[in-house]
Formats: sequence, structure tokens, C-alpha cells
Amino acid sequence: RDINGIFISHLHADHVSDIYTLRYAIYTAQRDGYMKPPLPIYMPKSPKKTFKFIKDAIKKEFAITEISESLNLKLDGMTVSFKKTDHPLDTYAMRFECPAIKTGKGSLNKTVVYTADTGYFDGLVSFSRNADILIADATLQSPDMELENLGHMTAEQAGQLAKEADANKLILTHIWPEYDKNTSMGEAKKFFQKSVEIAKRGLEITL
Ligand SMILES: [Zn+2]
Ligand SMILES: [Zn+2]
Repeated sequence: RDINGIFISHLHADHVSDIYTLRYAIYTAQRDGYMKPPLPIYMPKSPKKTFKFIKDAIKKEFAITEISESLNLKLDGMTVSFKKTDHPLDTYAMRFECPAIKTGKGSLNKTVVYTADTGYFDGLVSFSRNADILIADATLQSPDMELENLGHMTAEQAGQLAKEADANKLILTHIWPEYDKNTSMGEAKKFFQKSVEIAKRGLEITL
């Protein structure tokens, strides 16, 4: 009932499968008047076959907006921009910029960047520039660098990205379930000395 909208970076199963079950919760909430239909959902339209499958499954509960690099969303004064990442499917990193709030010390605006699934590439640094919170793909650990065409970052690279982009806080996400999270944390901290956290279900952060 607290959800105002959903952003989906790409259509790999680990990023979309929950919407099939969520659909039933939303259907009920809308039917009983707890939520206004339809719920905005932002996602890429490719691959076409997967998109059509999702669209047919979620029917009337969601209103889909296609995301792309040319889309610049304005939501309650917040702007959202997108950058295509280095991943096998059409995948988009997202930058959420909140409007400036006047404080005693001048005006303050807050930015959250989510890298989505991606390998490290230079364009990600400028896209993540000065993020107050950088939520970064840290699927891998440094020994995986020997593999090719990873489409994901190591925790070291996530730390490097946070440092290069001069972020304020780094949150490591998408860590391979078999991996020790403390090792990932250590890898990120080698490069990024500010605050590092591991993403977990239900994590809430005040900007
Ligand atoms: Zn993926
Ligand atoms: Zn994924």
C-alpha cells in the first residue's frame, strides 16, 4: 500500500519475477480501494518477447512507461535519468535527483544512483558523480576478474566507482549468494573509505 511506483532496470528473471505475485496483491488493494489503479511501472521494452509476456501478465494493475537514455522523468519535483549499462540485455542505471531544499547552510539537494546490473565502464563514473547514495552491482569478487564478459562488477570495482564518482555512501547489492559478504565489504573498502553497507531486504535509508 505504500508503493507509489516501481522501477525495473532490465527484464532478467531475477529482476522481474516478483511482479507476477505482486500483481495479485495490487489487484486486491485496488479492488478494495487501498491503492489507486494503475500503479506506475518503469521498465525497458526489450527483449520484446519478455516484455510482451510481462505486459500480458500484469494486465490492468500497472501502467507501463518505457525507459531509455532519452527519458527524463519528473516525479513530484524529483528528476530521474537513465544510462544504458554493460550487461547482456537492455539495462539501465538510474539517477534520482531530489529538488533542492533550503536549509540554514544554503540549499541542499540529494541524489541516489542505482547502477543496475553492469560491468565497470567509464561512463558510469560521470553518471554516478557526487551521489549521496550509490547502490552498486557487486555480484563478483576480485578473483572473478579472470572471467570474460562478466556483465557485473566486483565489489572492488564498486568501491572504485564510488571513489571515482566521489559518492558519499556506497551500498553493495546483487552479491552472489554463495559469497561471503564481509569479503565483498573488505574489497569495496580497499578503494572507498567512506560509509559502505550491504543491501538487504527492507533496508530504508534517510537522505
Ligand atoms: Zn541481469
Ligand atoms: Zn540481476
